[in-house]
Amino acid sequence: MSQARFANILETIGRTPIVRINRIAPPGIEMYVKCEAFNPMASVKDRMALSTIEAAEASGALQPGQTVVEATSGNTGIGLAMVCAVKGYPLVLTMAESFSVERRKILRFLGAKVVLTPAELKGSGMLAKAQELADAHGWFLVRQFENEANADVHTRTTAEEILEAFAGERLDYFVTGFGTGGTLKGTSRVLRAKSPDTRIIVCEPDNSQLLGSGIAQQRNADGSPAASHPNFRPHMMQGWSPDFIPKLTQDAIDAEMVDEIVAVAGQDALDLSRALAQEEGIFTGISGGATFAGAMKVAHDAAPGSSVLCMLPDTGERYLSTPLFEDVPVDMDEEELDISRSTPGARFDATASPAPAAAPEPPRVDPAARKVVEEAINDPEQPVVLFALEWCEFCWSVRKLFRKLGIPYRSLDLDSVAFQEDDLGGKIRAVLLDRLGSPTIPQIFVGGTHIGGATDLFRSYSDGRLATMLAEHGIEPQPMPEDFEPESLLPGWLHKR
Ligand code: PMP
Repeated sequence: MSQARFANILETIGRTPIVRINRIAPPGIEMYVKCEAFNPMASVKDRMALSTIEAAEASGALQPGQTVVEATSGNTGIGLAMVCAVKGYPLVLTMAESFSVERRKILRFLGAKVVLTPAELKGSGMLAKAQELADAHGWFLVRQFENEANADVHTRTTAEEILEAFAGERLDYFVTGFGTGGTLKGTSRVLRAKSPDTRIIVCEPDNSQLLGSGIAQQRNADGSPAASHPNFRPHMMQGWSPDFIPKLTQDAIDAEMVDEIVAVAGQDALDLSRALAQEEGIFTGISGGATFAGAMKVAHDAAPGSSVLCMLPDTGERYLSTPLFEDVPVDMDEEELDISRSTPGARFDATASPAPAAAPEPPRVDPAARKVVEEAINDPEQPVVLFALEWCEFCWSVRKLFRKLGIPYRSLDLDSVAFQEDDLGGKIRAVLLDRLGSPTIPQIFVGGTHIGGATDLFRSYSDGRLATMLAEHGIEPQPMPEDFEPESLLPGWLHKR
């Protein structure tokens, strides 16, 4: 493969690999998956994010610096956040509170604003809020469910990539789900025209069959839904079937591009996502597992020698807080404990780790470092002192508590550049060890009195001793609400057990 240089990240969108399934495909059937996780933001929606923004730039609907707004279950927002970051548009996203928290965090990390909407208002509630914000503020609403640029990009890119990969060979089945229907409409019309023997299969959740019901969707004049579809039920395939049949999806059905509709069970989606990961090394999300479950049904019924291509819209990494990872344990299971016990080192069971070969050298105390420590802990201007490390979770917890309580403090970060010269940081640690008999960091002092480490500090806050000591130095912590739990500031792995 040639190695290219790109002018910006947006140029890397698309051209995702089509990969053969080697172990879990039924015998005699050629199965392939198109791995959309290879897009820069790891989902198929990068394609439409770029294409809808560029179409709006070209038409003048989006002006330089204008805010972009959209309703999104996550992947669209993440794609848009990347595009808007590169192109310099502010971005506001509306999202139902029920979608996974990692999506919110990723969006905010990418510089977008996330406005949550109540879960019970479903997809329609997100849309209504986005529309309201666009109308009130004159923002550009992407309208992914109706926007033709969403389908067009799949016509120009996804479909052409598929044709190129199967050039000169048969492709008997193309299997996809629908979120907006962009992938379905845009890809299918090319396949129909240029690969007419390819049967197009659309999957949807078995407990929420909108297409399978045959019940028409009520729409507004612009094609947007006028009401929730009566057959919609909450399902776990994030990014799939919203609570209405999107216009782009309906277009594909009206144009008779859909040969078959396959209903997929949630448990099959989870099982096949895991099977793809463990048997094929292919990491995809819930909708990928679901589409692949649909593709497996097709493959089982297909004539020997058939070929099946299945879309995998995104990566499994986006679902750590969802049912996809629910059965994945945090602690070691019996098998892992057995592996641990099979050698003597670093074990958690009764056998202690072997003693180090020789006792460590007693620290030599450096007079200059001792002076720094004495001056720091006895400074009347700054009675609260923290000896810390920059990249230590417990030190972060201490800083968070001080900040929350409005307590001014001095932090001597012993691993920071400021303390590196002459290994001053290391020498200060030796002074602290000599003085306190404890090698751990952080160590906290108030007015020259040693409090201890992070957990000691949190305890002294909770039992009121900290407040008494601070009062002697004229410092009064801000009052906290009744339900304040200081432990929530300690490292997550400590208090979640
Ligand atoms: N799976 C996931 C995880 C998605 O985010 C989406 C897009 N909403 C889809 C599938 C469906 O793609 P499309 O919108 O092109 O129908």
